[in-house]
Amino acid sequence: MSTTHRWITKCILVALLGLTLSLKPDPVHGQGGIVVESPAAVIDFGKSITFTAKINASSPVQEAYVLFRGVTETTERVEKMQLTPDGTYLFMYDASLNVFPPFSWLVYWFQATLADGQTYTSEPLQVQYRDDRFPWQHISQANITVNWYAGDEAFGQAALGSAGAGLLSMKDLLPISLTDPIDIYIYSNIDDLQATLMLGGQTWAGGHAHAELGVVLVAIPPGVSQYTDMDTLIPHELAHVMIYRALGDNYAKQPAWLVEGISSMAELYPNPEYARALEIASANDTLLPFESLCDSFPADSGSAFLAYAQSQSFVSYIRDSFGIPGLTRLMNTYTEGYSCDLGVAQALSLTLGQLDQRWRETVLGQNVGGVALRNLLPFLLLLVLVLLVPLWGAIDVMRKRRKKENGKPAK
Ligand SMILES: [Zn+2]
Repeated sequence: MSTTHRWITKCILVALLGLTLSLKPDPVHGQGGIVVESPAAVIDFGKSITFTAKINASSPVQEAYVLFRGVTETTERVEKMQLTPDGTYLFMYDASLNVFPPFSWLVYWFQATLADGQTYTSEPLQVQYRDDRFPWQHISQANITVNWYAGDEAFGQAALGSAGAGLLSMKDLLPISLTDPIDIYIYSNIDDLQATLMLGGQTWAGGHAHAELGVVLVAIPPGVSQYTDMDTLIPHELAHVMIYRALGDNYAKQPAWLVEGISSMAELYPNPEYARALEIASANDTLLPFESLCDSFPADSGSAFLAYAQSQSFVSYIRDSFGIPGLTRLMNTYTEGYSCDLGVAQALSLTLGQLDQRWRETVLGQNVGGVALRNLLPFLLLLVLVLLVPLWGAIDVMRKRRKKENGKPAK
């Protein structure tokens, strides 16, 4: 048996074990009156989640409910279950209409109202909303797991290598936290990924991070460009996870241009097309104002690409001008709740517009005359001072001479 086969067998065994565990947990004892037998949540990814349970109680069950929510959600859904002929309670949730993030975890539990009018609640259980449409292989190191279904074992190892190298290179930019696991899922093409994400208009996305879940999804076809794709996409999405782990809920307070700029800076193989996109937009005066990139990025692919290119260049410029302490100060200011524009003013003593202008001048070479004038200004002032003294002197001499001429006796 080859290593790959052993690996696949191991994965299948682990998967089967996981399935068995999720399908046949021990009976769940409710508080007092109910015992829940064979509770299950069967995932048909993108289609349905079927909750079933047998409820044993000291008196007849009048009504049974399943309650569930995503682990990061605060409110649960409450759904009435139907009694099937074999005595099992069942509720089928339509997961095509109300999607959960792929590979997120759901918490679910049961409630039953008995003939005595009392409602009893079972202990909570968890199930992962896995995309089970593909034969996932996996490989792990230091709490990072790479999952893929196209490509050989070397493909998975290379992806793991990109993850490690990416984290190592971003350590000066961001604190690295691997105490909680990270799962990287590699789809073999953009269509599979898009179908999974159901992101609507964002068809340009080659990757996506559920930062709070530690789940990264990327599309990387096996082939000649797989290594550059891995070095670009995996570190970028991992940076999102690290930013979230550093900031927690304050992640959402950061402007999109800042989060995407930092994540794009973490790419080991930055997109060579970014420079060209910036050049063209700068020449045509079609650069996007950063004020428009605070909340989110444009939905159309061309503008979104430019938004990434700008953010990467702009945040690199901030890092080069103000150092890592400047970037950290900026993130802390947004964490304190400053608006997109005021955060820059507070942390860097420039308005967002002024910073944008300086970036355009310094990095893109726009308004060269303005920069030259600003650089020359001290010398112009010096020149004026130097000229003024002799000028005053000359005027003085002229005045004296004129006075002398006026004072001549008339002929
Ligand atoms: Zn991103």
